[in-house]
Amino acid sequence: MIAVVKSTATTEQLDHLVKWIEDRGFRTNVSQGDNETLVGIIGDTTQIDPFILESMDLVERVQRVSEPFKLANRKFHPEDTVVDCGHGVLVGGGHFQVIAGPCSVEGDNLIRIARAVKAAGATMLRGGAFKPRTSPYSYQGMGEKGLDLLMEAGGELDMPVVTEVMDPRDVELFVSRGVDVMQVGARNAQNFPLLRELGRTNTPVLLKRGMSQTIDELVMSAEYVMSEGNANVMLCERGIRTFETRTRNTFDVNAIPVLRHLTHLPVVADPSHSTGYTRYVRSAAYAATAAGADALEIEVHDCPSQAWSDGAQALTPEQFVDAMRRISLIRDAVTAPIEEA
Ligand code: PEP
Ligand code: MN
Repeated sequence: MIAVVKSTATTEQLDHLVKWIEDRGFRTNVSQGDNETLVGIIGDTTQIDPFILESMDLVERVQRVSEPFKLANRKFHPEDTVVDCGHGVLVGGGHFQVIAGPCSVEGDNLIRIARAVKAAGATMLRGGAFKPRTSPYSYQGMGEKGLDLLMEAGGELDMPVVTEVMDPRDVELFVSRGVDVMQVGARNAQNFPLLRELGRTNTPVLLKRGMSQTIDELVMSAEYVMSEGNANVMLCERGIRTFETRTRNTFDVNAIPVLRHLTHLPVVADPSHSTGYTRYVRSAAYAATAAGADALEIEVHDCPSQAWSDGAQALTPEQFVDAMRRISLIRDAVTAPIEEA
């Protein structure tokens, strides 16, 4: 981190700043130029709040040289992390998976949808039992009964299940039921007590990007989980909120290569919540695959018009079969070695 000091600063003020920094356990490197003085701050600067420095009268501005995240940073861990989701399913490091299923677990149709997505090539089953709805009057999910149905379906089809946990007090319940991947929804992306609680388990976490979260903030949320000891984190781009109203969210396809560059964690893309409309989901899924996503999460329902949540963005099993064929072709195209001319 570098603090740029104003040319008007006196030697006493500069000495005072250097002492302030060194008192906090950092080393400094002062470089006096003609117009400004640079104070290099050496050490683990993730501990420093740049705004405190910037609020000092003699400081012109502060610039970070290294990212504020350590555990998720590819610089310190160059190899891709491979997350073992159970049932022999790996994500990352060249292992590509498709997670599919209904938005919500609704009852007996779960097993029918699960069989259909598995037959089409999905390798992980999704479904929400505890739903984070914008309105308290909307359907809130089946709760524990929904978890039972999911675990039964996952067991029968030998597929890991992915389901959302909203409350830190439920984490133990999810672990005891054997949930394979705990999803943190966009609305909880910065629920720090929840992230810390998940960090105290070994269960893989699928961390969705908050609606207005920057890429760095998403990585910092992963850092919360990892700093408690759980390194099994996957990041998920699921669309962000912008001025555009033609789609439910704006799919930030850029985030996929950016996250893969910044971090070693697997990157998942959710084309369903990114677009919000069935007619656009496949295009976004293809773009995400081409952009290098390690996994896709896609909502599928056998009767979208009757779905209890997110029917407008669900693919039918037939549409999903069609999508899977093309996803597989695109994945092959972007991973095949290019022959020298
Ligand atoms: C979901 O996966 O059904 C969901 C609620 O997603 P998000 O948190 O991304 O809105
Ligand atoms: Mn949904």
